[in-house]
Amino acid sequence: MKAEKMACFDAATRNAAASIKIVRDRGKKFVGTYCIFAPQELIIAAGAVPVTLCSTKEEPIADGEKYLPRNFCPLIKSSYGFAITGKCAFFNNAEFIIGETTCDGKKKMFEMMGIFKPLVVLELPQSAGSEAQRQYWRAEIARCKAEIENRLHVTISDEKMTAAIRELNGERARMRELARLNTAIPAPLAATDMLKVIWARNFTFDRAAFNRELAELIAELKEMIAQGKGAAPETAKRIIVTGVPTGVGSEKVIKILEESGAAVVYIENCAGMKQFLDDVSPEGPPLEAIADKYLQTPCSCMSPNSGRLELLVNLAKEYHAHGIVDITWTGCHTYNVESRILGDYLAGHGNIPFIQIETDYSQSDVGQIRTRIEAFLEMIGKK
Ligand code: SF4
Ligand code: SF4
Repeated sequence: MKAEKMACFDAATRNAAASIKIVRDRGKKFVGTYCIFAPQELIIAAGAVPVTLCSTKEEPIADGEKYLPRNFCPLIKSSYGFAITGKCAFFNNAEFIIGETTCDGKKKMFEMMGIFKPLVVLELPQSAGSEAQRQYWRAEIARCKAEIENRLHVTISDEKMTAAIRELNGERARMRELARLNTAIPAPLAATDMLKVIWARNFTFDRAAFNRELAELIAELKEMIAQGKGAAPETAKRIIVTGVPTGVGSEKVIKILEESGAAVVYIENCAGMKQFLDDVSPEGPPLEAIADKYLQTPCSCMSPNSGRLELLVNLAKEYHAHGIVDITWTGCHTYNVESRILGDYLAGHGNIPFIQIETDYSQSDVGQIRTRIEAFLEMIGKK
């Protein structure tokens, strides 16, 4: 069963491009981001509109491959393909882009993108554990603030940052409340629908309107739980998806899982819930609080990245998961190596069933993936 309220989230993504003119007519400017390390509070505090740029579609990959190695991660080829061809209206309308030195592929791609688009590239430390790394990243976030101020000709005050922190903390709390509804058996929200809600959040620029729709969806899902209704039957195998970002357009594996009868109860990756995990502390200087929150992002670009391992064990318990599916994009070395680390960790912490699926955005391996997933779900059933 599907919540009726989902209809408006389906429409939000379809109507996204039309809202560009409305935003611009109000005198607002767009700032583009790709990765969840980009501090959205600073963009909002500057009076601009953050937009997470698309990197989840297969269509621009052929154009991306004219400039980038074919064996690159599809996410990077997709974003570059959109950018170089001018096919993404949000990219075209962004005053500038905030990028980060995360994986090698992305930072080299940003070098090429910087030739034709204004970019601010934040240099991430390789790990988040030490005081030196914390101070280094705080300085990078301070540089980011200065870049935004210079480029948009504004001043970002502490008061504006505090207001933006409050606004985004509120949104994150509501997204966590939404996700937590799926701890119920049966889970009321399909993962493919969860992705649509997250996409609608990216592309609905009237934040108050989005939050109203979200509250109504949460109320409807609570009603479904009270009536014992779910997006999949009570007996469905409950799966947590982790790994690389898988958004609208690149949700192939999630769709196969759902078509195979599984209930995907949680999407841990950064196109899913990772971005909503932690709030910015309302205490202390706001710029430092913003920096500290983003540095805690449990991404495989960080070495070590033990926070992700512990998180997944806890999520498996909280969401009554039968297994974990780790998706790796072909060419993504950090998530590929970390998959082995994760599999070993899960085996040693409750022997949680685990499978890695390495794939790209094409449909050529759908049959093969379906066979592996069906075997995995059957194996879980026998445990
Ligand atoms: S997986 Fe890591 S590097 Fe890639 S978009 Fe997410 S946070 Fe950024
Ligand atoms: S999926 Fe991996 S290779 Fe692709 S952009 Fe993210 S970290 Fe880089």
